[in-house]
Amino acid sequence: MTQISIAIDGPASSGKSTVAKILAKEYNYIYTDTGAMYRAITYLAIKHQVPFGDEEQLVKLIQAYPISFIQETDGQHVLVADQDVTTEIRQPDVTKAVSEVSAHQKVREALVSIQRKIGEHGGVVMDGRDIGTSVLPQAEVKIFLVASVTERAQRRYKENIEKGIPTELETLTKEIQERDHYDSTRKVSPLRQADDAIRIDTTGKSITEVVQSIKKVVTEKGYLL
Ligand code: C5P
Repeated sequence: MTQISIAIDGPASSGKSTVAKILAKEYNYIYTDTGAMYRAITYLAIKHQVPFGDEEQLVKLIQAYPISFIQETDGQHVLVADQDVTTEIRQPDVTKAVSEVSAHQKVREALVSIQRKIGEHGGVVMDGRDIGTSVLPQAEVKIFLVASVTERAQRRYKENIEKGIPTELETLTKEIQERDHYDSTRKVSPLRQADDAIRIDTTGKSITEVVQSIKKVVTEKGYLL
């Protein structure tokens, strides 16, 4: 059967990674969380006291600490060199700084080249901000997920509480709005819906409903029947 690429983009907390993981499991595809890669570099910058504006040093971190994903019983884990940073990359200090780090052209070039390698043979569900527009513009299926800010903040709030990450709804709402603004107005590969992407508003929809809508798009295009 043809191994296609499924690109899932959208603003912060629009449900991308949740549905991407489910789809990857159902289709037996590789799941790639590109946001986790930008978060990993941001974590390294904080750890090694590299200023977020220092593009050259940030690229050196990417070269010195290769990012990898491993599958564990409780889901996918993110490693930098040999260190498991799955929990660390979700902490508020990383979330706050990640948009500034990800806006650098050379940082993006370094990570996009890794992402394209992962997706070169298809069989991948990749989520991010620029997958359909820049990383995998040839992806057979492109989805752009959106949801109201209020609902996105509430979802992230619930997630954070479950993970034991200290959190406040008002702060989260502001942080999501700021990150969306930063990500969609940056010069290099801003957050944008690809012309050939299908837009799905997940406000008020369950995860199952969103997954079903995407699977419908996939089959209507004649794939994975
Ligand atoms: O998806 P997540 O919210 O974890 O992404 C964290 C940040 O990484 C985004 O706010 C954005 O700044 C950056 N990002 C990006 N391009 C991607 C994925 C994430 O710039 N493809």
